[in-house]
Amino acid sequence: MSTPPSVAGSTSTTPPRPTKAKVLIVGAGIGGVVLALLFERAGISYEIFERAKKVVPLGSAISLGPNVMYLFEQLGLAEEIQAHSKDIKDSAQYNDNLELIGAHIYSHHNERYGYAVNIIPRSIFYEIVERRVPREKIHYGTKVLSLMQNREGVMIRTWDNQTHHGDILVGADGAYSAVRQSLYMQLDKKGVLPPTDKERLPFTNTCLVGTTNVLEGEKFNFLDREECYFISVVAKNKPYTWVLFSTRDRRICWMVVQHLSKKSVKDNDSFRNSEWGPEAADVMAKEVRDFPLPENMTMGELIDLTPKELISKVMLEEKLFETWYGGRTVLLGDACHKMHPAAGLGAVSAIHDAVVLASRLFELPSTELGDLEKAFSAYKGERYPMAVKSYESSKTMAKLIAQSWINVIVRAVTKHMPLFLWLKVMDSMMSYRPQVTFLPLVPDRGTIKPTKQISLELAKKFNHAGSDASSSVTSVTSSSVAPSVASSAVAPSVASSAAAPPATSA
Ligand SMILES: Cc1cc2nc3c(=O)[nH]c(=O)nc-3n(C[C@H](O)[C@H](O)[C@H](O)COP(=O)(O)OP(=O)(O)OC[C@H]3O[C@@H](n4cnc5c(N)ncnc54)[C@H](O)[C@@H]3O)c2cc1C
Repeated sequence: MSTPPSVAGSTSTTPPRPTKAKVLIVGAGIGGVVLALLFERAGISYEIFERAKKVVPLGSAISLGPNVMYLFEQLGLAEEIQAHSKDIKDSAQYNDNLELIGAHIYSHHNERYGYAVNIIPRSIFYEIVERRVPREKIHYGTKVLSLMQNREGVMIRTWDNQTHHGDILVGADGAYSAVRQSLYMQLDKKGVLPPTDKERLPFTNTCLVGTTNVLEGEKFNFLDREECYFISVVAKNKPYTWVLFSTRDRRICWMVVQHLSKKSVKDNDSFRNSEWGPEAADVMAKEVRDFPLPENMTMGELIDLTPKELISKVMLEEKLFETWYGGRTVLLGDACHKMHPAAGLGAVSAIHDAVVLASRLFELPSTELGDLEKAFSAYKGERYPMAVKSYESSKTMAKLIAQSWINVIVRAVTKHMPLFLWLKVMDSMMSYRPQVTFLPLVPDRGTIKPTKQISLELAKKFNHAGSDASSSVTSVTSSSVAPSVASSAVAPSVASSAAAPPATSA
């Protein structure tokens, strides 16, 4: 096989051919399916393993801002996403007497960064992406238990005792990642795992989330407003905050966040998992029924208008892991950085990871371990500082919705924050707008230019006449992703090894 030139450090502007590595992706959440779609477009061979029989994207709305919309424009999905979205122009914050205590504006986004903030139900967004990943490449109902890897390849073992082999393993399996647990066990045995990575995921909030049915009737006429109705209510004397978003199809996505004391964190600890069963959701739903809302509504009313199967209770863990890769295995999304959802940056960060990882793997010169390590290190090198920033922004935004005395001060400060300072905060969150290197670059329309970022620089370098770049990708996709790679890249010593690492639960 001829080896394509490495992009990093090269002065060549010829787009390289995609890697012939075969990638196993664990987890078909938002991070996993976006990565799969990028591989699809790049002509990289992959398979996804997902423990759920069907991914039900539970929860609320997702905000897709200018920091990901250029990618979706590159993929040709921006219009479809916008057609199902409402723009956020502003948000209002109330106390539980429904007195206005704060407001934020988002109406500068279009001009400053080239896109508004699009609010879209998670289920619709997920479906837009997942529908484009060929069905036969996603193995649903396939829980991955453990991994083994060596110089030649990587192997995963699934719940039904099957093994699957590849050159690269991506753990996109969420906050309680089995891939991470299995990888960390190996690294710990070698004595190279930092102590902080051994600590459990801390959490101080739990959250009840749901999306109502389509809401008919005069009472809900406020949902016809062109822009998104986005409000939060911070209770004065009880440890809860509740948030609503309206969607284009006249539904309300809602979430009720419970701020836990040290004692209640301990009580909740025994239920650790990223998602709880319906009983826990039922109990919390009863607790929050009387919570008041503007427009003459209560939380109970919204809960009654929400299909039961679309209500879930989740923990809001927060942790940034230090170790993102080891050997042939690399982590992505919540598996390596779990953020509070207050800033709406969790899924966005998983998507950013996918952009940078796909771009780095596309240009991989070989499947040698040394080349993988270089690519993974470049991936972490670009993404880690941004993940730190997003993690910190999420913590700050979480303070805006919580109710300790320090958070009251933070809210008071931000309430009187001059516009230029608020815009500065937004500029820092929205100026990272990566695009993939292997598709034609989309011109950025923001008056605030994107910050210098390696992937974007590489994308610009390869931004020949659009048709050249895309036709090179298309022809590679259809012809030269060797089927032999898909079926053969099995590391014999891995495949035949009897001693799989201990099973981890996810
Ligand atoms: C209430 C709430 C609101 C949010 N709002 C926003 C928002 O507005 N904007 C935003 O950007 N982010 C938001 N987030 C965060 C966002 O949802 C997550 O950061 C994002 O979903 C992470 O994607 P992921 O693919 O890394 O992980 P996940 O979405 O957790 O996907 C992991 C997948 O892996 C599968 N899996 C797990 N273990 C295994 C295994 N052993 N074998 C096989 N498969 C496995 C799981 O079933 C799952 O499908 C919100 C989160 C919450 C809780």
